[in-house]
Amino acid sequence: MTSTTIRPARHRSLGDHTWQVDAVCQSTEYNPVDPEIFFPAPDETDKITAAKALCGQCPVRRTCLDAALEANDTDGIRGGLTEEERGPLHGKIAHRLDYSRVNDTIAGRDVHLTNAERTAVVHAAYRQGVTEQRLAWLLKITEEHAQKLYRELRRALRNRDLNEPATTTALPEVGGEHLGRYDFGTAA
Ligand code: SF4
Repeated sequence: MTSTTIRPARHRSLGDHTWQVDAVCQSTEYNPVDPEIFFPAPDETDKITAAKALCGQCPVRRTCLDAALEANDTDGIRGGLTEEERGPLHGKIAHRLDYSRVNDTIAGRDVHLTNAERTAVVHAAYRQGVTEQRLAWLLKITEEHAQKLYRELRRALRNRDLNEPATTTALPEVGGEHLGRYDFGTAA
């Protein structure tokens, strides 16, 4: 019987560009790459095909795509996707709720978070008994702000307990984000 090893997601830290040294589109003396192929006109299919072929063998393809989406870099081919293919993803990035990012943050890594992911961090941190000081450090906010977030969460939990039947499993809305019980993934 064979077993499959699933490696946990690894997200780049904010401001980290070191992943680019592994990009196969980095032109070198021994691996010359024409950067123009990554900025093709819509009908330049030869360039698009050449660029996508490089992206297809690039070990940092996912990181490249994440970086482009998080920086709202809408120009050129990134992560194997053309501008047109990436367009809808740019519109969705603000609503991303990736629990591997929540877990990375709780573990102390400084990764890019959407508002929904920041809210999930507050919930998960509260459940795990993370102090307000630590939460402030994790989210790069003031202690006063962290205290306010916990206060709002406690109030929302209390209101839920007062107003909803005991069988209800939904978690309360905090900071405009409503999270379901099972939305916590492994962060809970
Ligand atoms: S995925 Fe494509 S554009 Fe991104 S670093 Fe790799 S080769 Fe370059």
